[in-house]
Amino acid sequence: MDTQKKILIVEDEKKISQVLAVNLMMAGYACDAAYDGEQGLKMALEGDYDLILLDIMLPKMDGFEVCRAVRKTLATPIIMVTAREDETDKIMGLDLGADDYVTKPFSVKVLLARVKANIRRYSGETVELKSMPESNDIITIRELVIDEKTFTAKKSGREIELSRKEYEVLLFLAKNRGEVFSREELLEKVWGYDGFLGDMRTVDVTMARLRSKIEDNPADPQYIITKRTKGYYIA
Ligand code: CA
Repeated sequence: MDTQKKILIVEDEKKISQVLAVNLMMAGYACDAAYDGEQGLKMALEGDYDLILLDIMLPKMDGFEVCRAVRKTLATPIIMVTAREDETDKIMGLDLGADDYVTKPFSVKVLLARVKANIRRYSGETVELKSMPESNDIITIRELVIDEKTFTAKKSGREIELSRKEYEVLLFLAKNRGEVFSREELLEKVWGYDGFLGDMRTVDVTMARLRSKIEDNPADPQYIITKRTKGYYIA
């Protein structure tokens, strides 16, 4: 049997925290709760969690700060829980290193599916890393060089700072060069979600951020091309 996965819930509204904990425990997870940002950060750094559910509006230290601070040392998947659309935009814009977000009110079913997908991907990646073949580990597309071994990308010799998801999207498209993928397909293949569980905007915003980093002119992309109504591809 798999060892039980541990989730940290950082949420100041006790009712929401309880609902989350009950549902996660029924789904087989162990849960701890923190009720403000400082406590959340402390627990995140000291406990060995498999995933962190992080509210944004928190006393003492907000979710943005907690996320940044956790990311300095840990790669634990973080799902941000947002109450408003504009918070979602902020998360996506800030490049905090969060893996995903859900907007309140969310369905428990969707949340559990996201939790499961993020934990699976996180544990799966470690295995993939170890079994990565030695050959075929550098992909070159004109000025762009993607190194699978070091998980880095360079353009014209300079390293580009990418979040994990940005890197994964880039690598996925590069490995399947010429093939067009819809947002639903990218959500399924890169994020590990069934299309109906994901938010298409996650793809759009990740793509926009990735383009702003790799394209000379993001408004006229030369690497990641949009095929109207079909999806994205690398030419
Ligand atoms: Ca809150």
